Amino acid sequence: MALIPFDDRDGHIWLDGKMLPWRDAKVHVLTHGLHYGSCIFEGQRVYNGKIFKLEEHTARLFASAEVMGFQIPFTQTQINDASRQVAEAQGFADAYMRPVAWRGSEQMSVSAQQSKIHVAIGVWQWPSMFDPAVKERGIKLDIARWRRPAPDTTPWKAKAAGLYMICTLSKHEAEAKGCQDAMMYDYRGLVAEATGANIFFVKDGKLFTPYPDCFLDGITRKTVIDLARHRQVEVVEKYIQSSDVGDFEECFLTGSAAEVSPVGEIGAWKFKVGNLTRTLMDDYSNIVRGKAAN
Ligand code: PMP
Repeated sequence: MALIPFDDRDGHIWLDGKMLPWRDAKVHVLTHGLHYGSCIFEGQRVYNGKIFKLEEHTARLFASAEVMGFQIPFTQTQINDASRQVAEAQGFADAYMRPVAWRGSEQMSVSAQQSKIHVAIGVWQWPSMFDPAVKERGIKLDIARWRRPAPDTTPWKAKAAGLYMICTLSKHEAEAKGCQDAMMYDYRGLVAEATGANIFFVKDGKLFTPYPDCFLDGITRKTVIDLARHRQVEVVEKYIQSSDVGDFEECFLTGSAAEVSPVGEIGAWKFKVGNLTRTLMDDYSNIVRGKAAN
């Protein structure tokens, strides 16, 4: 499939308070965010023209900004309004939306106290993170050689661009091996998450997921925990060792982009796309479209 580059599309992007023609939403090459990773972002989906959990995503953008020492020159209400405005301008019923904030070009050194903070919001069509046919059978995960870093080595609570360096490396290595994604252990060797999604396991009708104590506690993760509890499914947050993984029956990933994606294999471990995974996939696709679970 031919790639349509992201800098050469039609429509509009919101940048620093203005709706700009898509191709004019540019930054200079000498930008702190590009050189030093001083950049944070969000990722949220539009379903039937409505942004799912918009306020939560905007609140997390501002929380990430605070961790990174950014003063975003807009209020959360202004960013919520701008997000709706971009979604409406693009006019997609279903889409993926990317708010991003970064330090500008005023200073080009590690210290950038005077740099201005910029904010942009773009939206595009991205029907599924994984090929739907592969997803139906369960995706294949590699085991990443990179680990989620210790909480005192990185601002892990922020959804910050710099934290994705090891995610892209892990995902590229996984794809080179014919996998769709990779499972990452943390600095202690405990199961953490995938490269852009949280991970869940099923055993004996119960749901298990790692404590998010060094990686993103996803908005979808919390939604899926609520959906499961609503069905009286017991949800256990615990430290998951690699030696536990082989005992699980089902596995899936959760994320705003990934939604609920069944996992068929992690390295040599195999999982079935079972009833609880399918139920939660359905419940999630209902709730994002404003429908109650069946
Ligand atoms: N972990 C990582 C590394 C992610 O990039 C994402 C996607 N934002 C998630 C987990 C899931 O977060 P959410 O459900 O809030 O999209």
